Order: sequence, then structure tokens, then C-alpha cells
Amino acid sequence: MILKIHVTGVVQGVGFRPFIYRLAKTHNLKGSVVNLGDAGVKIIIQGENGEIQRFLQDLKNKAPPMARVDEIKTEEVKKESPFDGFHIKRSEQERENQGSIIPPDVGICDECMKELFDPNDRRYLYFFITCTNCGPRFTIINSLPYDRERTSMTTFEMCDECRGEYTNPNNRRFHAQTVACHTCGPKAMLLDKKGVELSDSSVDALKKTSKLLMEGNIVAVKGNGGFHIACNAEEDEVVNKLRRLLGREQQPFAIMSRNLDVTEGFAYVSEEEKKLLTSSVKPIVVLKKKEDFEQYLSKNVSPGLHTIGVMLPYTGLHALLFHENNIGSLVMTSANKPGYPMVVDNREALHKLVDVVDYFLIHNRDIVQRCDDSVVSINGNKKTFLRRSRGYVPLPLLVSHPSKNTVFATGPDTDVTFCILTKNQAFLSQHIGDTGHHETMEFFKNAFQHFKKLLDVNPSTVACDLHPRFATTLFAEQICLEKNISCVHIQHHHAHLASLLGEHKKEEMVCITADGFGYGEDKNAWGGEILLGGFSNYKRVGHLQMQPLIGGDLAATYPLRVVAGVLGEDSADFLMQNTQVFPHGEKEIELVFKQLKNHRYIYTTSCGRILDAAAAILGLCYRRTYEGEPARKLESAAHKGRDVLQLKPVIKNDVIDTSTLLHTLFEYRDRYNPMDLAYSAEEYLSQGLATLAVEHAEKNGIKHVGFSGGCAYNKHLLTRIKEMVKNAGLIFLQHEKVPPGDGGVSLGQALIATETSFK
Ligand SMILES: [Zn+2]
Ligand SMILES: [Zn+2]
Ligand SMILES: [Zn+2]
Repeated sequence: MILKIHVTGVVQGVGFRPFIYRLAKTHNLKGSVVNLGDAGVKIIIQGENGEIQRFLQDLKNKAPPMARVDEIKTEEVKKESPFDGFHIKRSEQERENQGSIIPPDVGICDECMKELFDPNDRRYLYFFITCTNCGPRFTIINSLPYDRERTSMTTFEMCDECRGEYTNPNNRRFHAQTVACHTCGPKAMLLDKKGVELSDSSVDALKKTSKLLMEGNIVAVKGNGGFHIACNAEEDEVVNKLRRLLGREQQPFAIMSRNLDVTEGFAYVSEEEKKLLTSSVKPIVVLKKKEDFEQYLSKNVSPGLHTIGVMLPYTGLHALLFHENNIGSLVMTSANKPGYPMVVDNREALHKLVDVVDYFLIHNRDIVQRCDDSVVSINGNKKTFLRRSRGYVPLPLLVSHPSKNTVFATGPDTDVTFCILTKNQAFLSQHIGDTGHHETMEFFKNAFQHFKKLLDVNPSTVACDLHPRFATTLFAEQICLEKNISCVHIQHHHAHLASLLGEHKKEEMVCITADGFGYGEDKNAWGGEILLGGFSNYKRVGHLQMQPLIGGDLAATYPLRVVAGVLGEDSADFLMQNTQVFPHGEKEIELVFKQLKNHRYIYTTSCGRILDAAAAILGLCYRRTYEGEPARKLESAAHKGRDVLQLKPVIKNDVIDTSTLLHTLFEYRDRYNPMDLAYSAEEYLSQGLATLAVEHAEKNGIKHVGFSGGCAYNKHLLTRIKEMVKNAGLIFLQHEKVPPGDGGVSLGQALIATETSFK
């Protein structure tokens, strides 16, 4: 019998053809295997029936670790001339568009790590060591099918030894497209600020860099998906210097630790966190600091917070940064201004980072797609994405409602990802950033083109936020104009709800959506909403009290403006005690109260703004220098507090009173310690939101209550809401596959658009 087999899923770039080759040999089958232009694989086999059946069984059950087999289609074919053996054939451009996808980047595997430090191995200390089971994929692939000539490895001609491994079926690097060595592969170079090379080989570049880091220097390091800025995380002096040079006063730096032992010295690591840290993805995991944290790391790595983001070396290059020194942890922050795209190009790095770093560790391989590190935390025993990027993208999420059209959803404004929904697969892009910046929007457009090419799709439905002026809204409208189709505008919090529903394959729920800002149907700034509904419609059944937002965006930067709006003249003295916070001092404060008196403001129901105001009243943070700072500092203060105020939430006509909360906090601010007051404030909000959500779920016979939006990162809020929902006998839903914050919004937009446009 001769059988033609089409396999779809993640089957290119994962050692799939070598696996098929070995399987065919084991079962005495003849024929061929070939990569197709749609990221799928075609197999022809000829042999004895029983062996073919066993081959098909093994194909399903024994696939390589990085592979994902979604579908196997078989068809009997006729052929006159007999096959001679089994071959891996040259890739074909043929496309069936069955929804296969290239794999994400994979962290260095144990075998490669062993070889890297084995003096007898020919890749000893070679920074770009990879194999079929590890290395860059998403960031290196230009187009399909996945072969070396369509990656940024194309300029590196394999040496005889590498080719020997590449063509040997028994070798781990059999058909590994990133195979390379000291002789033939990418070269690393160390440059000074003027761009003058200081190294004479890759090994020398890494050795010198490792020493320079030990000596207190700041180095720009080119990785697989972009540049990082690295320095010794144990020394205050260099960490402070880096903060000053980057203009990042308070924003926490992610760090890279030498190994798990070092990490466990300064942070609590649960079993689940350990698994994540050492998984093949090796993401940044947000861990709780130990009490004696400052014995190990500079206190300025994550000032004012009880947590720290940690990752382990995920490439050979990273492991080598620790080789010639005894540093336990390095600051490893992406090389960009917050919200801007990470630097990926050598020349761009030399130009943009020259005022920040002392040296550049670069290499001569191009980065095809930029990809930031993923950030995850364990929240209520579940994995929660703060950022879903390297190691996860471009893997799709499977949704329950297959889409008839291909949908493109452009996301919101900050922390943006976009989503392409085709059939039952939703592809979320890598982390893009804040699209208010021109450069970030260029990255957005470039990534969109790349995804379109990889997936071979041309979206015919386009969705975006309801906000009329977001760059992502304007881009969506422009595409619609060109295609002569109508654009689907979706309310921000409805999109949050839909993304949570989509993740859990449910149809309706009551969703608490609490975040900083989302454009409301009434044009006000929403952000503390109780929504009831599904994909095609929703009702706003409750919300936090409407409060004055004096100065719009300025109120997000200076939470004392929110305090003034809520407390009115009562807070005038308090603001005057903090004139230094305001760029224009007393005058500005006077203007704030004048605007309040004359009703010159919009309203907000934002939960984020109330948390910010609480942080300001408690003296924890008066000025936001990074996204979420006041609320995060409030959470850090609260994590050791208790509910001293015991305030029962005041709810009238489905509105949770927040004035009572802030007035009480203000009144008691000198009587109790800030930790207990912070805890009490969070307790009030979580109880209020949960009470109202449960009430509406019960009244409407709805079983599921969910929690989405940026405030769902707050462990105290999440834990209390979950507990109250469960105590009411309802089912609680939280995000596990996409971020609760704005990085998950595009999924919801796409799902709503597909439901509403084909009714
Ligand atoms: Zn490997
Ligand atoms: Zn070689
Ligand atoms: Zn949001």
C-alpha cells in the first residue's frame, strides 16, 4: 500500500522530518517526507499494511517534545515505479493552508548546555549553540517552508563537520536549520562606545564581557529577539547609574540569575514557579522577595515592591555571561524606553544606546522578528501572563466558535498585542507596546505583515477599540477603507469579558473588569465595571462610583489629582503639603480645585485610579513613573497588612461607593500604619465588586463570574473575589492563557467581531 499523509500543527523547526525519517526506517517503510509552504508536512510511505498502521500510531504518540500534531489526513495513492529507500526531500512551496504554524523560540536544552561547558566538545564555549530541540525559531524565520535559506542563518555556509551532523540521521542536529559552530556560524564581537572591536573571537568577546560586567560596567547584549541592557544586579552603584542613564527612577528591572540555587537565595520559589523557571520557555517569573533580599541583590532592582521578576539563562550566550565572573544575578532589561520597541539592529543599538552603556556585545546574525521576554506569575495557583511573548508566540489558542472569515483585531492602546483569528485558531502577536508612539506603531504594522505572510491569510473582518483616536483604531479604519468594509468598534471592557470567555470556551458570564482606563459607551473613562453578557452583547449592570478625573491623563500620573476630585476642599491642606509633587507647585493645585468647582472634568469609574488615590493618601506613591506604579506599591504595602477598618462596602443602585472609602482612609491615615490601611482599601474594593457581581449572577441565573483587567494581577483582589464567588456556589473564571491586562484585549475583540458580523 502507498499512503499520502498530511500532518498539520507545529511540525516544522521541531525535528519532525528527522523523526519521520527514523520512524519510517524502524517500520521498514519507503517513501519521502517534505516540508510544505503552509508550515505543514507531507509524507509518502510505501510498505506492509500492519507496519503502516503502527507508523501512524507512533506518529501520533511519539512526536518530538516541541512538536504539536493537530491533524493527520491520509489518502491512498497509486504509483508505478518502486521507491528507493526513504528520503527527506527538498521543501515544496505547496500550500493547503490548514493552519500549521512555526514554533516559538525555545530555551537552550540540557544537552546543548552540557556541550557548551565540555572542553572536549567542538562547540565548547560557542555562544550560538543550538540543536533540533532548542534555539530561536519565531525570531529567525523570514518565510515558509522552514529551511535555512529562508532564515537569517542563510548567510552562514555550513562547514563540513556541521554538514556531517546535519545529514546524519543518528545525530541530534540532523536537519537542524540553526546548526552552527565556531568555524562556520555567527560570530560575537565586543565593541567599545565608539564601535571599535575589542575582541578577536566569539569566545574572547564573551570572556571579556563577563569580566567587564564583574568590574561594574553596563553592557548592551544582543540576544535572539532583541537587545538587553545588562549589569551586575548585586551592586547598588551600577544599578543606580543605569536608572539615572535610562531615566527610569522606579520601574522594576527584570534580572537573570545564574541558576535556580542563586534564585532561591533571595526569593521564595514554589514548585510551580520552579517548573516555569526551568521550562523550555524560561520566561521571566515574578517571585516574592525573601526578607533578607538586600543581602543578595541591590535594593534598587525593584524599589518599593515585594516582588521581583527573574529568569534563567535561555541561550548559550546568556550562560557565558556568567562564566568568567562570580556574579549571581544580572539586571537584564530590554533595551528600549518603556512602551517603545526593543532595539534589534546593531547599528541602531550603537546609535541609540551609546549614552547608556559602556560596551556592546553584538553578533552578526540578523533578528527577523523582535520578541520581548514573556513575564508570568502564579496567581491563585494558576499561571498568569503579564506579557505573552517569547516562547509562547506564535502558538495559537483554540477557540470554540470557528470563524467563517479571517478576523484581524488591532487591540487597544497600551501593552498592545494584535490577534488574527482564522477558523478555530486565534493567533496573538508578540508584545508590541504602547502604540501612541510612532515607532511602536511601525513595529505593529511590520509584525502584522509578517503574521499575514506566515499564516497566508488576508483578513476580511477588522475590529478595534471604541476609542476614536487610538492609533490602532485609525489603522483598523484605514484598512477597512481600503477594503471597503465596515470596521467593528468594540468597547474595551466588553473585549476583556470576551477574551476571558473565549479562553474558557464559555458563552456568558458576569465579569468584573477592573483596570485603569477604557473608553465607555457614554464617552466617560470606564474601569471598574460589572458586565453581564456574552460575545454578541453585554449589559453594564454595575460599576464603581463616578469620580472627577481632573486633567484627564494627568490624573493618572499624579494620583493626588484624583484625591482632590474625590475629597474636594477637605484635601486642600494635604495637597499643599505636597506641592513638590506638582510640576507647577501651588499654582497647579489652585487650578485643580478651580476646575473641580467649575465642573471642568470628565468622570471615571476606574478601579485603578481609586487604588492610585489610596496609595497617594497613604504616602506610598505620589507620582506614577511607570504603568501601574501607585497600585503596585499599594499591593506591596498591603501584602503584610490586615483589615483594620472593617468597612462594609456601601452599594446603592448598583454603584459601589468609593468616596466613603477614600474619606475613611484619609481620616485614619495617621492612626493606623499604611500596610493595614492599604489592605483595608483593597478589601473594601474586592468585597464591593464581588458582592455586586454575585448578586447579578444569582438574579440572572448565571453560573460563571470572572475577573479581568489589569487589577486582576493584584493577588489580594483576585483571592478575595474568587473566595466570595465560590462561597456563593458559583464558578470563578480567571485568565490563564492570555494576559488579564490589555495584552489580552485583542483576543476578545476578534471573538466579538466574528460573532457580531455573521449573524
Ligand atoms: Zn539543544
Ligand atoms: Zn560548523
Ligand atoms: Zn483594560
